[in-house]
Amino acid sequence: MHLVIIGNGIAGVSAAITARRLAPAARITLVAAESAHHYSRPALMYLYMGHLRYDDVKPYGDWFWAENRLELVHAEAVGVDTAARTVQLATGPPLAYDRLLLATGSVVRTPDWPGRQLAGVQGFIGLPDVESMARDTHGITHAVVVGGGLIGVELAEMLHSRGIRVTWLVREGRYWQSVLPPEESAMLEAHFRNYHIDLQKNTELREVLGDDQGRVRAVATTTGRELPAEWLGLATGVMPNLTLAQAAGLDTDRGILVNELLETSAPGVYAAGDCAQHRQPAPGEVAVEQLWYTGRMQGETVAHTICGAPTPYRRGEWFNSAKFFNLEYQTYGRVPAQPEAGLASFCWQHPSGKHLLRINFQEKTQAVTGVNALGLRQRQDVWEHWLGEKTPIGTVLAQLAAANFDPEFARQHEAAIRQEFGLQFPKIEVAKPRRKGLFSKL
Ligand SMILES: Cc1cc2nc3c(=O)[nH]c(=O)nc-3n(C[C@H](O)[C@H](O)[C@H](O)COP(=O)(O)OP(=O)(O)OC[C@H]3O[C@@H](n4cnc5c(N)ncnc54)[C@H](O)[C@@H]3O)c2cc1C
Repeated sequence: MHLVIIGNGIAGVSAAITARRLAPAARITLVAAESAHHYSRPALMYLYMGHLRYDDVKPYGDWFWAENRLELVHAEAVGVDTAARTVQLATGPPLAYDRLLLATGSVVRTPDWPGRQLAGVQGFIGLPDVESMARDTHGITHAVVVGGGLIGVELAEMLHSRGIRVTWLVREGRYWQSVLPPEESAMLEAHFRNYHIDLQKNTELREVLGDDQGRVRAVATTTGRELPAEWLGLATGVMPNLTLAQAAGLDTDRGILVNELLETSAPGVYAAGDCAQHRQPAPGEVAVEQLWYTGRMQGETVAHTICGAPTPYRRGEWFNSAKFFNLEYQTYGRVPAQPEAGLASFCWQHPSGKHLLRINFQEKTQAVTGVNALGLRQRQDVWEHWLGEKTPIGTVLAQLAAANFDPEFARQHEAAIRQEFGLQFPKIEVAKPRRKGLFSKL
């Protein structure tokens, strides 16, 4: 069998490594346009900030690929003939395949603002963006970032690390309004103010204004202001990269449509990672998952199917984590941004504004359904256990220390957390706290 994989991001590489293990005799070829070797996309910001070098963000040594008989082709795939089972490359002869995996990732989504093409205006998704950002922000004093969410905050932190003043425009009335409940947004907004980030809410970009050299000099906003900008970062989201799939005539919607085996509409062709869209996501689940760990899981899962052991993709409990400057964020299970019928939400905040814990639970059964943690680190295995077992909130609060990474934090704040719960939900009993012998089976 010859497995050809387009894209050497986490989905493509996870599939290649798993397939090598499952099918020692298979020929496996990884085609990638951006870089010869796989690197960690979430670590890109640390290249710009000087914390890591390029070699540090490559999880595998360059020798690894030949050692594992994974053939690397550094080229752009420009077409697929699904009937003849061949891939056309921009350079070099076509590649014949028996199985084809599209793991083509995302592209930056940018509204067509006037002035978008000026020098010093860019998105941030790959290695070339680190290079252009380093070049174009050298020696500047003021930059603008457009778009909330996780890439926006990364850009703000990167610019701040070089002493550049940041004005940050977000369309919504509060930070990451579509994902976070109001208390989390408010805590983060205060946190950004501590770093002198000028967050302008309810504000959209209207036009990018240039100087006579063709460089950005300012932005005009929908609130009628003109803000100085020697560099403009666009963080208005990403969307699945469909170029190749559409050229191949595959069924697409927002992403490349796949069933639970991650099969596309063409026989022998699969899709995984950011570019894939589940045809039938479970209720409450997202159809397009654009995360590092879901890319890895999809890549590993599809490799089983490709190697002859059909395996449906099952993500399990949702989780995500991020860092907002130095404030850690974790979420497990479902924590909607707005209140939902039948769901209660307990939220504790430390008076310092540096720690927050929210636990959602079913009003009827009291089973916990999700947690948000800001400024305190929770253990994934413990939360997966509680969520999977539908553990009642009273039991969770009694055992909270088991989920906390930092025993000091647990000792200092858990009594206050339980006390606050008693004030917010006086009718729900919290079992007596237990510290010993918890989760011996985990
Ligand atoms: C700056 C940044 C920070 C992030 N931080 C986090 C984080 O902290 N946590 C998290 O969970 N997620 C994070 N993400 C998202 C995460 O990186 C992605 O979900 C993940 O990388 C997707 O992996 P993938 O393999 O599907 O695609 P990608 O990593 O996008 O890889 C796709 C590859 O395919 C190549 N390709 C596409 N078309 C072709 C073609 N025609 N021919 C050849 N090659 C092609 C592309 O060049 C690319 O290299 C971040 C993303 C960015 C941009």
